[in-house]
Amino acid sequence: MAELTSLAARYEGLILDLDGCLWVGGRAITGAAEAVDAWRASGRPLVFLTNDPRSAPEDVVQRLWSHGVKASQDEVVTSGVVMQEYLGGRFDGCDAVVVGSEAMVRHVRLAGLRVIADEKLVPSADVVVLAGYPEVNYTDLTWAVRAAYSGATVVATGRDRIVPSDDGVIPGTGGIVAYVEYCSGAEAVAVGKPGPDAWRIAQERLGVDGPVLAVGDRLDSDIGGAAAVGIDGALVLTGVSTREMADAWDGAAPVGVADDLGALLLA
Ligand SMILES: [Mg+2]
Repeated sequence: MAELTSLAARYEGLILDLDGCLWVGGRAITGAAEAVDAWRASGRPLVFLTNDPRSAPEDVVQRLWSHGVKASQDEVVTSGVVMQEYLGGRFDGCDAVVVGSEAMVRHVRLAGLRVIADEKLVPSADVVVLAGYPEVNYTDLTWAVRAAYSGATVVATGRDRIVPSDDGVIPGTGGIVAYVEYCSGAEAVAVGKPGPDAWRIAQERLGVDGPVLAVGDRLDSDIGGAAAVGIDGALVLTGVSTREMADAWDGAAPVGVADDLGALLLA
């Protein structure tokens, strides 16, 4: 069994990003599954933490297995999971306009909110939930702007501008957030990375007292977000941020920068 690098061996828990770290679009990143295997073999826990709001945790688990990465559902924290926890404590019993996938609608319902399906109810919505998905359309945006303009609280899964995909970058949730903020004058709360809620839930799932390493491909969401809650972050160059961006980065420096997850974790 492969040994861990001395950097990785310093940590007792691992928080791993997915997009740009384990895969890009439908393509698995070479060596990533072996790196996760080696981490598991060392007997230490890990949590997968993703800002991708499209998929339910069970779908993410399936996708991980299809790429040769063993995972259980309690190890997967999506921004939908973070959204559900955030809304549940604050907006139980409220009415929501949801711009998001079926999985996100389910998270909002599980948090105890009613999801508005009747246009007449849109101006009286309490909350607008923004979570990018490929089928986003003009009706979605109109309902979101109308509810926000009428005073609903706007909660987003994140502000990521772009997401890597097979064919190049695609717009992230941040674009939808900017659209709704610009049109309505409202200001959104973002609950996913780099915000503290996502990291707190990931840390609770890890359940270790010792040092934790976060690995991601984005300096802002992953490295900056982790540093803000006292977690060391390491950057992999298989996604959005480049080595040049890391050199020019004026936030908390990553504890490591590696070509890919294998190079970061495998000695
Ligand atoms: Mg990523």
